[in-house]
This record gives sequence, structure tokens and C-alpha cells, in this order.
Amino acid sequence: MKKTDIAPFFATLREANPHPKTELEYTSDFELLTAVLLSAQATDVGVNKATRKLFPVANTPQAILDLGIEGLESYIKTIGLYRSKAKHLMETCRILVQRHDSKVPHTRQELEALPGVGRKTANVVLNVAFGQPTMAVDTHIFRVSNRTGLAPGKTPLEVEKQLLKRVPAEFAVDSHHWLILLGRYVCQARKPRCWECLVTPYCDFQPKSEAPKSSK
Ligand code: SF4
Repeated sequence: MKKTDIAPFFATLREANPHPKTELEYTSDFELLTAVLLSAQATDVGVNKATRKLFPVANTPQAILDLGIEGLESYIKTIGLYRSKAKHLMETCRILVQRHDSKVPHTRQELEALPGVGRKTANVVLNVAFGQPTMAVDTHIFRVSNRTGLAPGKTPLEVEKQLLKRVPAEFAVDSHHWLILLGRYVCQARKPRCWECLVTPYCDFQPKSEAPKSSK
């Protein structure tokens, strides 16, 4: 993607959706951290289904600890990898209570020191909770960044670095939401829906896919 096309690419996405949000449901920094931690290799829909039952009962580090590991597992067992996620979340809650006054820390270093919190989770929390222009490169952003030519890279970290370099400052905070939504609903993995895509003029992908006959 040409450098001069990047701003119009994001301006188009912004015009269609001026205030993009994560599809994970949360009402506090701790709920967000919990939801993101549970969402690795799971869908937002599946996580929301579980947290709608969990959060009314336990939405603070101490309340999660009070559930005990088996109690916690009973709420999240519909989510993939729930046993290791439960273990990580319990350990994270213990550290939050002991070292952070039960609050979610604001720095990458402190976030990544929490069990189960990797670079991507830290990026989501820093961006969504604290408004920092971080790029949490998930499978959708990785695919869209490469396919469109916006920020090509062989690994998520390479793509993240390219995005940080190439996305203009005015779009930086919201860009990861726009890219996720573009990838989830339009620029889909098996077949991009180019025929209904708003950013077609700026995207390098060729040939653009055509609508199946039945949906024309
Ligand atoms: S034009 Fe096609 S390949 Fe390019 S972003 Fe849109 S859906 Fe994806």
C-alpha cells in the first residue's frame, strides 16, 4: 500500500465507524484484563457468554480468588484452554492483590509480568483501558496488514512494528479496532469480501474477489 493511501484508508474506516470498540464486554479495567486473558484462541462471543455469568458474581481480584480454582473453572469451562487460563487468572489475581492494590497496572513491563499476559494482551489493555496507541496484532490484523500491503511482516511482532511506523498518529489509538473489524467481517480468511469492502481503492490485494452469483 502506498504511503499516501494509508490516511485515506483509515479515514474511510473512521467515517463508517467513528468510535470503534472492542466486542468484549467489560465495565472495569479488571474485567477487561480478565476478558482479554480468557480470549486467547477463543471468540469474543464465547468469552462474553462466560463472563456474563462470572462478572456479576466475581469482578475483582479478591472475589476471583475467593471463588477458588474449581469455582472459577465452573464459570469458564466453555472456553478453550480453560484449565490453564483459570490457573493463570488466579495467579494474576494474587499478584494484583499483593503488589498492585488490586488495580490493573499501567505499564507494559508490569502487565507482561502477570501470568497469562503476553505482549498481545498487554497491548489490548494499554490501548483499550489506558488509551495508548499500541497495536495488538491478532490473527485478523496479521492477515489484513499483509493482504492489503498496509504493514507486511512475517511475524506478529514485525507487523506490529510496521503498523507503529506507518499508521498516522491521528488514527493510531483506534486503528487496531478498525483492522480487527475489517478482518472479522469483510476481509475474511478464506475469501475476502472485496465486493462490499469500503477500502478497495487503497488495498494491494489482487485480484479482488467477486461476489458469489447468489449474493449479487
Ligand atoms: S479489498 Fe478485499 S483484500 Fe482488500 S481489504 Fe478489502 S476485502 Fe480485504
